[in-house]
Amino acid sequence: MQKINVEEQLNILIKLQALDAQLYRLRKERTARPKLIEELETRRNEEQAAVKEIEEKIKANQLKRKQKEMDLQSKEESVKKLGAQLYQMKTNKEYQTMQHEIEGHKADNSLLEDEILAIMEEADSLNKELVREKELFSEAEKRLNEDRKKIEGEITVIDSEMADFESRRKELVAQVDNKILIQYEKVLANREGFALVAVKNHSCQGCFMNLPPQVINEIRMKDKIIVCESCARILYIENDADV
Ligand SMILES: [Zn+2]
Repeated sequence: MQKINVEEQLNILIKLQALDAQLYRLRKERTARPKLIEELETRRNEEQAAVKEIEEKIKANQLKRKQKEMDLQSKEESVKKLGAQLYQMKTNKEYQTMQHEIEGHKADNSLLEDEILAIMEEADSLNKELVREKELFSEAEKRLNEDRKKIEGEITVIDSEMADFESRRKELVAQVDNKILIQYEKVLANREGFALVAVKNHSCQGCFMNLPPQVINEIRMKDKIIVCESCARILYIENDADV
């Protein structure tokens, strides 16, 4: 079995880790981008629903007003009719009863007129609300269309950067011992893109656990791959003065 040159392997892993850190960051951005578009779409849809809701309220308001106006019209006709009959009454009592009835209708009509006025005021404020909400909707739509284009452009850039890093990665990976690569990639997947970390101040720079002097000596010997006992990341010494 050929002896692995640990120093050489670590040097390749350092380059590989630098690429993988970039790839990890890019992959995260790549996943986040479509979500940004989704959020903008949700906001646009919410504003659209709000516009529709006000339009429904306006429709209901118009219907209510129409009904009240029809009520008022028929009551006014009754008042006219009764008024014409008033002078055909034969007795004083009949006359008074009829007059009483007419007064009752007139009072109803006055209430109806107040109601119609209130409905018209409500229509005014609904119309104002509609104008405001339509503005918010068109802003949200404009923002969506503009940002969608921008984000899609960013995704294209990220994809091409990732493809570039992936092809450089392939070249490096080919130079790594198979067993070490398996170990490295397993940790990479489990430890948020960092499988190889330097030792500084007697501690692992991945999990910041203190490393015993014996472990640090073993790393210095470069006889085999040494991992952090606590986080399983591969350890190396970047600068002896930092250790
Ligand atoms: Zn660690």
